[in-house]
Amino acid sequence: MSATHRLTAPAPGWTATTDVVVVGSGVAGLTVALNVRKAGLRAMVVTKAMLDDGSTRWAQGGIAAALGEGDTPEQHLDDTLVAGAGICDEEAVRTLVTEGPDAVRRLIAVGAAFDRGADGEILLTREGGHHRRRIAHAGGDATGAEISRALVEAVRSDPGIELIEHALVLDLLTDADGHAAGLTLHVMGEGQRDGVGAVRARAVVLATGGMGQVFSATTNPAVSTGDGVALALRAGAAVTDLEFVQFHPTVLWLGPEAEGQQPLVSEAVRGEGAHLVDADGVRFMLGQHELAELAPRDIVAKAITRRMQEQGAEHMYLDGRHFGAEMWEQRFPTILASCRAHGIDPVTEPIPVAPAAHYASGGIRTDPRGRTSVPGLYACGEVACTGVHGANRLASNSLLEGLVFAEAIAADLTARHRTGGLPERSVDVAAARAAQPVPLPPSEARAEIQRLMSRGAGVLRSAASMADAAAGLTLLAEQAYAHVAEEKPADPRVETWEAANLLLVATALVAAAAQRRETRGCHWREDFPERDDAHWRRHLITTLTASGDPVSTPEEQ
Ligand SMILES: Cc1cc2nc3c(=O)[nH]c(=O)nc-3n(C[C@H](O)[C@H](O)[C@H](O)COP(=O)(O)OP(=O)(O)OC[C@H]3O[C@@H](n4cnc5c(N)ncnc54)[C@H](O)[C@@H]3O)c2cc1C
Repeated sequence: MSATHRLTAPAPGWTATTDVVVVGSGVAGLTVALNVRKAGLRAMVVTKAMLDDGSTRWAQGGIAAALGEGDTPEQHLDDTLVAGAGICDEEAVRTLVTEGPDAVRRLIAVGAAFDRGADGEILLTREGGHHRRRIAHAGGDATGAEISRALVEAVRSDPGIELIEHALVLDLLTDADGHAAGLTLHVMGEGQRDGVGAVRARAVVLATGGMGQVFSATTNPAVSTGDGVALALRAGAAVTDLEFVQFHPTVLWLGPEAEGQQPLVSEAVRGEGAHLVDADGVRFMLGQHELAELAPRDIVAKAITRRMQEQGAEHMYLDGRHFGAEMWEQRFPTILASCRAHGIDPVTEPIPVAPAAHYASGGIRTDPRGRTSVPGLYACGEVACTGVHGANRLASNSLLEGLVFAEAIAADLTARHRTGGLPERSVDVAAARAAQPVPLPPSEARAEIQRLMSRGAGVLRSAASMADAAAGLTLLAEQAYAHVAEEKPADPRVETWEAANLLLVATALVAAAAQRRETRGCHWREDFPERDDAHWRRHLITTLTASGDPVSTPEEQ
């Protein structure tokens, strides 16, 4: 099937060709590129900003894998299934936890240096929901930066990997059989590849990361605008579990007007013994869960939000004063610096924290090999939904998921290549032209979408709050259509393309969240506070209708 919709954009003015085009340069995208090279395939990595501008660089806590003495993949599996609240795909989780330890060792072989003890063994810490110390970290709390550094160095030194930075991918191109054949993109640069162009490829891999920018307060960087999910929907692919957005419980509270990316105070701080307290110093997590502050994130986020509501407070506090200056400096240098940059000294005062959008458990539906429902289109990392997270991601499983399933995609592409199943593709130009252009909202729509989503579809959700959000989003879409009818359309440019992607993803997310009338994992309905396995122990699959509206259908039980 060819795409029925595309972003409004000028026709491509240039074309480039490769074997595998990878969109995104986080842990997932770069791992695919490095691994398809082993089969002699050429790879092109296209990325929106600089190579290290995604979420990967920001990951603090670490990467989970059963590497420690006495730990086993089976125990990691159990913890992951509990966090996922009944809708994890167990086979996908099994792949994650059994492949995980070796995938981390391969990452070390690529050059990532994890923190080690005096005996040379990798140091492992605990995080929420893990019953074992199994989180490997680097540079104390700078794990993602180290992983990103190592992978970026590796791709830069491979001449078979072409890197295109400052390039916003717009839409998928297919051949006459509906197989992915490349993509359209806009390069912000000068020279031969400037403006809108096309890349032809034998296969397309989406590794575009998360969608945190759909909300006002998020830990995600500015590039996390859900582009991959929006592109996949327009291309006719199925997406799933969009309603399961994890809100990180402890994000540095910067004041009531703060918007966009906000500094995270990693779970590892609680793992090392910091306490959550209210303004009176009361530890309110005690008695709420056997793991207290280390309960799964949704439990902690809900407890904080409840306490904030009860007390009419805008935030709670994370108290790690008992760590002392030396431990803060050695174990959490990044968090210490970021708090101090905002006028808070965790050594002498508790840190004000509140929940913010952190991780999209849902995304483009993939099978264990990373294949989506569109032939030749693959997805991995945060943009994908492999089924490992279910209704809630277990802390530090996401970097691991990016690694493991990126390797699975490379293995699948390699196998197809070796058996002649990865031929060159010709773009069906007529089909690309026939796709309906989606009108672009003005760039100011971004802030309005974020406000609507945080108010209506944040940590606390109800039918009424989501109806408000949906009405506001519909109005924005209608205004974009009206501007086209009045011959005053918004200019096609990065800000308006991103706004169109945010609008589509937000609309799809609200539609799914409104439909799921229960509370499960990180989806918390005030009007349906119980988990309802009889009706909802299943996924919602979202696709676009012929008119371009997202529609969610419950999966058959
Ligand atoms: C503050 C923070 C802390 C975290 N801590 C941890 C942790 O301790 N452990 C853990 O496991 N996980 C953690 N996570 C989550 C984890 O970092 C991410 O899930 C993971 O890094 C995602 O990797 P990725 O490769 O899928 O995407 P990203 O690293 O987000 O990369 C996405 C890439 O896609 C590019 N892109 C996006 N759209 C387009 C487009 N249209 N065209 C071209 N390029 C595009 C971006 O520029 C970027 O290069 C954390 C996340 C944040 C934000």
